[in-house]
Amino acid sequence: MFGCAACPSSPTFPVFAEVEHHMEEVHGVRGVLRGPATRAVLLPSTLSTYQCLLCVEGGWVEEKQVQVHLSDVHGEFFARRWEEYSTSTCRMCGEGVAKEEVEHHTALHHPRSRFARGDKEPRAEAKVEVDVKGNEDVVKMKLEEVSKLGEVTRVPGETRLKLTQGEADLVLGRDARTVVGLNRISRANISIKGSSEDNEREMVISGKENQVSLVEERVAKILARNTYIKIKLKSREMMSLC
Ligand SMILES: [Zn+2]
Ligand SMILES: [Zn+2]
Ligand SMILES: [Zn+2]
Repeated sequence: MFGCAACPSSPTFPVFAEVEHHMEEVHGVRGVLRGPATRAVLLPSTLSTYQCLLCVEGGWVEEKQVQVHLSDVHGEFFARRWEEYSTSTCRMCGEGVAKEEVEHHTALHHPRSRFARGDKEPRAEAKVEVDVKGNEDVVKMKLEEVSKLGEVTRVPGETRLKLTQGEADLVLGRDARTVVGLNRISRANISIKGSSEDNEREMVISGKENQVSLVEERVAKILARNTYIKIKLKSREMMSLC
């Protein structure tokens, strides 16, 4: 549960939208995430929730709940592959965040130091420390800004993007899982041409305009995240030189 540290009655809220509403109604703060009033917001210990990809249900905080839903509503087949048939999103900004990336996402976008310190529940310390400034911008970066080669061609309904082998691997994901997931959420046609021996590969995204732009957005995020890790390493190296 989220909570408000500014109210003596310690109200709690199951979803972040209610915190925003409370902050605006009771404390006159609009867009709490963007300002310093986050220091009055108590965070729950779990910062992401699961959604079912087969229907509209969601909001679960535990894997077990996803598995139970899949098995009860959709069948054992889906429950056994629950990771493929569910997605997790950040409880604060609603962004899709893989379970193993939650700490990273939180450290980057909603560092716990900006929020109230609750003394009731012990918190898992963020494992990833991100000390790069201006990280919010990365989220909105375009493909040509985040891909190394920067070669993007667009015609209505089709986007082509040159990728390095490393980038192609990243977009494909383990066992091509990432690209399969992209295809599933967007319904766009996605192909990565060339073989793993090539230095450069070409990604072709085609389909309806909104499908293509959804894939573009997601791919940009995947590549941006990678860019970050590099920036992060660089700033660490620099610090060790000082
Ligand atoms: Zn309050
Ligand atoms: Zn479902
Ligand atoms: Zn978030």
